[in-house]
Amino acid sequence: MPSDLINSGLALLGGTPIRRHPWPKWPRADEETANLVLEVLNSGRWAISGMYNGSKLYERRFAEAFAKFHGVQFGVPTANGSSALTIGLEALGVGYGKEVLVPGITWVACASSVLRVGGIPVLVDITPENLCMSVEDARNSITSETSAIMLVHLNCSIADLDAFLQLSSETGIPLIEDCSQAHGAIWSGKRVGSYGLISVFSLQDSKVITCGEGGIVLTDDPHLYDLLQQYRADGRRYSSNPKVNLIELEEVGSIQGCNYCLSEIQSAIALDRLSHLDEENRLRRNNAAMLKKKLSELGGISPLKQLPNAEEITYYQICFRLDRDEFAGLDIFTICRALTEELGVLIEPVDRPLNNNILYQPSKLSCLSDSYRDNWKIDPKSYTLPNATKAAQECLTLPHRVLLGDSHDIEDVVLAFEKVKKYANNLQFATKH
Ligand SMILES: *Cc1c(COP(=O)(O)O)cnc(C)c1O
Repeated sequence: MPSDLINSGLALLGGTPIRRHPWPKWPRADEETANLVLEVLNSGRWAISGMYNGSKLYERRFAEAFAKFHGVQFGVPTANGSSALTIGLEALGVGYGKEVLVPGITWVACASSVLRVGGIPVLVDITPENLCMSVEDARNSITSETSAIMLVHLNCSIADLDAFLQLSSETGIPLIEDCSQAHGAIWSGKRVGSYGLISVFSLQDSKVITCGEGGIVLTDDPHLYDLLQQYRADGRRYSSNPKVNLIELEEVGSIQGCNYCLSEIQSAIALDRLSHLDEENRLRRNNAAMLKKKLSELGGISPLKQLPNAEEITYYQICFRLDRDEFAGLDIFTICRALTEELGVLIEPVDRPLNNNILYQPSKLSCLSDSYRDNWKIDPKSYTLPNATKAAQECLTLPHRVLLGDSHDIEDVVLAFEKVKKYANNLQFATKH
């Protein structure tokens, strides 16, 4: 009986957890995925730098399918999302001393990739409603050195693409979309990732399409496509007439590249999983709608507010804002720990703001020069980010696995919130020092 479970006391304090059986599995693979992987294993070619054997690479098939899915012309797969960001920035000409606007809350790779290419991440505050970069703050952060705006769709939101496209066209500063948390989302009738001059995606284990580790960059610009290919394959690109038993790549060297290639095994997995993306997104969306409705009814828990043009958002994580007064004034970390214990799945606050994030340590970069070190804009503490700071104290996220089941799974999540809310007072007492 649900009420017994609720009355048993918090799992964090030794009570019975709400959830005692497994959540839907993630990442997912089926027989079709396994067949493709086996085909690669037997093909005699596991990498794009391997010998051409007359058949089309899975890397190219995935690139084409993913680009087509987005209505974009070109795709360049990469080893991970971070290298997708790195080559995206390099292709846009972001280099030493150039500034890139990065949202104050996002995964650290958004900022560290800018450092990696010698640029300066300029931290921009977010809008409280959807936790994405604020266009007003972005505008105020632009200088003559600003070379790109890195717009990240995160925490199940889509950033204000119309406003940022407008800003980009007014200023001539290119937009790079990071869609690592928004695969398949639709803004104004088009997929996110089809708006920026360049867009990047991570295919890491937790993302809604994954091959373990992986990434991809999209663009409609043939010149950028050429640069992206070279930046990710040591200055090489696909040859237009490959010979069997020889390398399929031709050496160009119009830039200094590096090896960020995605393997054939991973590409085959990504290609297979792409065919499930829309259907899995639909399931998550339906369950998310149910969860949002039920949690809103509990009081003190609200979903993020989306912009009208955010037609179909995706749920890499589902994010809620709490009124902590309704949870006995507990801090967000304690609430997350209590929920995690009830549900047996990691529930965590949104990413820590980049001006106060242990993973963001620009001054410890191995290749930092003195003039770079002296630039105050490198120092995260130079930024105040009040909205990001507040959001990090109020907002939490649940992983998309909890949205891949049915109404019983949603009911468990709701019960856990109800229970933590009901006993929040006990927790406050227990955690007092
Ligand atoms: C996951 C993620 C990345 C980094 O991707 P990796 O594949 O882990 O390198 C970049 N940006 C955002 C917004 C992400 O969520």
